Amino acid sequence: MKILFVASEAAPFAKTGGLGDVISALPRALGVRGHEVLVVMPKYGSIDAQKFGLRDTGRRVEVTIGASSVSATVFVNAPAERLRYLFLGNPWYERHELYGEGGHDYRDNHKRFALLAAGALEAAKQLNFIPDVVHAHDWQAALAPLILKRGWAGRPAPFKARSLFTIHNLAYQGLFPREVMQELMLPADLFNPDALEFYGKVSLIKAGLVFGDKLTTVSPTYAQEILASSETGAGLEGLLQHRKADLTGILNGADYQQWSPELDGALPAKFSARDLSGKAVCKAALQKELGLAGDPRAPLAAAIGRLVHQKGYDLLAQAVPGLVERGVQVALLGTGDTELEHAFVELAARFPGRVSVSLRFDDALAHRIEGGADLFLMPSRFEPCGLNQLYSLRYGTLPVVHAVGGLNDSIEEAMPEQGTPGAQGWGFRFADENAQSLLSAVDRALALYANSAAWAATQARAMALDYSWDRAAAAYESLYRESK
Ligand code: ADP
Repeated sequence: MKILFVASEAAPFAKTGGLGDVISALPRALGVRGHEVLVVMPKYGSIDAQKFGLRDTGRRVEVTIGASSVSATVFVNAPAERLRYLFLGNPWYERHELYGEGGHDYRDNHKRFALLAAGALEAAKQLNFIPDVVHAHDWQAALAPLILKRGWAGRPAPFKARSLFTIHNLAYQGLFPREVMQELMLPADLFNPDALEFYGKVSLIKAGLVFGDKLTTVSPTYAQEILASSETGAGLEGLLQHRKADLTGILNGADYQQWSPELDGALPAKFSARDLSGKAVCKAALQKELGLAGDPRAPLAAAIGRLVHQKGYDLLAQAVPGLVERGVQVALLGTGDTELEHAFVELAARFPGRVSVSLRFDDALAHRIEGGADLFLMPSRFEPCGLNQLYSLRYGTLPVVHAVGGLNDSIEEAMPEQGTPGAQGWGFRFADENAQSLLSAVDRALALYANSAAWAATQARAMALDYSWDRAAAAYESLYRESK
C-alpha cells in the first residue's frame, strides 16, 4: 500500500512529545512490512537541514490560504527503503518553537497547519505519490481528511484516498475564533456542531473526527475513556460516541533502535537483562551528574515529561517530601508550566543531594535517566498512551503509574505468587489520583526493592517484554485496508 502521513512533528527532526516518537517509528515499521510511506511535516526553523541531510527537491507547492496563494519549498530525507520524509518550508515555520512561545500558541497556527494539511496533499500529488490511505495525526493535520471529502478553497481534492485520523491527545483540539472559517475559506455550512463548530469556536480536530473514514487513538483504554466522560472526552465524547463503530485503540510501540540499554550510545555503560552491572555504572554516573548522593542502595525514582496539569506532576511535588522521608532520591527532567517549575526548583533547594530538577528538553539526559534510575513515576491524570513507561521497562526501571489510558494497558502490578515476591507483573499501579496513593504504590515498590533477588527477577521480566512497533503497525495495516 501507499500511505501518506501528515503530522506536525517527527523525531529526530523536531519533537515536543510522544507524537514525534510515533511519527519517527511507525512509518519505518510500515516500510519494513513492505508499504511505501511518505511523511509530510513542516520544515521548522529549529531543524538543522545540514545535520539531517535534508535535500532541496527544487519543487514548490502552492496553497490557497484565504485571499492569498502561499507557497512552500519541498525538502526531502529518505532514512530507509520505501520511506521518505518531506519538509514544507515557509517563513511561517521559521520560529523558535513548534507551536508557541511563553505559554501562548502562535496566533496564526490555523494558517500554519492549514498549509501543512493542504500542502501535504499537493506535495504528494506533485511527486506522483497517490496514496491508498492518508493517515493524519492530531489537530494540526486534521484538515487533510476534510480536504479529501470536501476539497480546498473551492477546488476539489488533488486526489481521492481513504483517510485515517489518529488522536494522540484529545486535550489539544486546535480551537480558533469563528473568523477562521473565512480566513481559511472553509465552506460556511461546516460551521455547525455536527461539523467544525465547538461552542461558537472553530475546532480543527473536529475536521479529523468528522471526516476521517476511520479513527484511532493510542491505547484501548484511552479509546474507552474518551467515550465515557466529559473530562477525558474533553467535550467531544458525544461526537466520538456517534463514531464509536469507527474508533479503535491501538497501543503505541517503543522504538527499540532508539531505546535499548544494549545499544544506547547515550549511556556511560551499556547493559542487558543478562548482565545488569552496566546499570549500576549508569546509576552512579547519573547520581554524580545530577548532584545526588552517591549511594548505590538509595532507590532512585525519576520522572520525565511536559510539566502540565495532565501529567499530575503537582501530585508528584506533593509526594516528594514523603519520598525523601522514605530514603528515595528523585530526579525530574521536564519543562512546562511556570508554577510547577518553581515548585520543583524549591523542592530541589530544600532537599539537596536528594532531589534533582533539570528544567530543559534534553533527549540524551532522558536516556541517561532511563538507564540509571530504579523507578519511573507517571502520576498522569490521563495518559493516551505514554511512552516513557515502555522505555523504562526496557531499561529495567520499574514504572509506578496511575492506572489510566495506555498506562493501564501496559503495566501489570508486580505481585508475589505463592509467597515468592516479584513472581509476576513488572510495575506498580495506583487507582486514586492523589499523592497518598502514589506513595502507597512506591511503598510496594520499595518492599520489592529491599529483596534484591525478587527485584532482579522483576527487572528481567520487564526487560524481556516486547512492545515493539511491528504489532501496532500490523493493526494499522488492517485498518488501512478496512477504511472505505
Ligand atoms: P506526551 O506525548 O504527552 O508528551 P509521551 O510519554 O507519549 O508524552 O511522550 C513523551 C516523549 O517526550 C518521551 O519520548 C519523553 O522522553 C520525551 N520528553 C518529554 N519531556 C522531555 C524533556 N524535558 N527532555 C527530554 N525528553 C522529553
